[in-house]
Amino acid sequence: MDRQTQCVHVEVARDPRSDLKRSEVEGLVKEALNNSFNPVDNFRLHDPANKDLRKHVTAVSFCSVSSTWADPDGLEFHAACTISDDNPYSDNTLETSFRIHVYELNDDGENAEFMDDDEEAGSSPSSHHWVLPSANFHGLWDSLIFESDVKTRLIDYVQTAILYADKNVDASLISWNKVILLHGPPGTGKTSLCKALAHKATIRLSSRFTYGQLIEINSHSLFSKWFSESGKLVMKMFDKIQELIEDPQSIVFLLIDEVESLAQCRLSAESGNEPSDSIRAVNALLTQIDRIKRYPNVMILTTSNVVGSIDLAFVDRADLKIFIGNPPADIIYGILASSVNELIRVGIVLSEDKAMLPLTYTNLDKNHSLYDCAHQLSNISNLSVNLSGRTLRKIPFLTHVNFVRRENCTLYEFLAFMKKAVEVEKAEA
Ligand code: ADP
Repeated sequence: MDRQTQCVHVEVARDPRSDLKRSEVEGLVKEALNNSFNPVDNFRLHDPANKDLRKHVTAVSFCSVSSTWADPDGLEFHAACTISDDNPYSDNTLETSFRIHVYELNDDGENAEFMDDDEEAGSSPSSHHWVLPSANFHGLWDSLIFESDVKTRLIDYVQTAILYADKNVDASLISWNKVILLHGPPGTGKTSLCKALAHKATIRLSSRFTYGQLIEINSHSLFSKWFSESGKLVMKMFDKIQELIEDPQSIVFLLIDEVESLAQCRLSAESGNEPSDSIRAVNALLTQIDRIKRYPNVMILTTSNVVGSIDLAFVDRADLKIFIGNPPADIIYGILASSVNELIRVGIVLSEDKAMLPLTYTNLDKNHSLYDCAHQLSNISNLSVNLSGRTLRKIPFLTHVNFVRRENCTLYEFLAFMKKAVEVEKAEA
């Protein structure tokens, strides 16, 4: 019988107080996996059997993928441990290959950079900076729910780009640009997905890079009237970025949100409506992006709210262009269910034994204890089509403010109120 390999990423947050080395933590995790029957479904950090491991790690999460990365020879920088045949988890047809990624969350928060020296002058920051993996983005990746394989494509893309760079693949024979563009209507999670990707990829590449950097460039601030020498200031900003890139232990993600505003600026300049300072800044920015893209440890993430083409060469040549639209009903169900479950967790929505809603409704077993509630939420999801992810994440709060108006209520009541909140939102949209 053919053996199939499923690859499971095991992401392990090391406790900053632990005195163990990364490899020692990895060893403890391997041991715990080997001792656990079907760890993907059953592993619990708080099980008494994991007492020793718990002293050194704060979280362990599993992510199962069936992608090309199941080939253990493909990426030598992954710690791989294949649970062998004598482990009860293996059967004749499915072999599980575990990739363990030990990381440590950085608590520093975000750093705002100003291009002029006078922060008090009322200017907005030109960029924000995070050291990755950052506590700010912990859980963000999992909270974002999309159709199809968007997240897998993104993470595979970053891993492939780094692999090609590491293997010194000749760029004149095989070209790749290291630019990703996510485009679609506002509020569909594009910016959040870029930040979550940078965080997640840093964790997945934790045996290759010691840490990551995310720099979010605020393109709007380039046009601010406060900057008299914008072009020069962009250069100054890139000098700092250059310093970060020169550390080969670090992977650098440059995020440019609403990239269409740069193209718009160039268009306005042609028609004489844009001050020359702004256009100089934009041109300097584009030149610098083209320059730093050549470094092996840099990825450029861009987002745009326009659906049509953007007149900028570096975006035009993006390797991955993914349209992110408003979510369909089954994804809406997942988004709303995860929000309601959070209210159940904290006791604002009351459900017997704190039972949680299933996160998917398709093929749900009719005997599920919350089947009726899930069915009701599925109807609400159908009603919510055309609302953005951003609006959907606000619905539970608006339900509470406008309809619940007391400390807590039952799940049935909450869902009935939620339907009303969606109706109000749709009427106003
Ligand atoms: P965009 O960049 O497309 O305008 P954002 O990344 O700013 O969108 O999204 C804002 C917030 O909306 C996100 O942080 C998230 O809370 C919520 N959101 C949007 N899309 C989704 C989604 N597909 N799944 C879960 N939450 C979403």
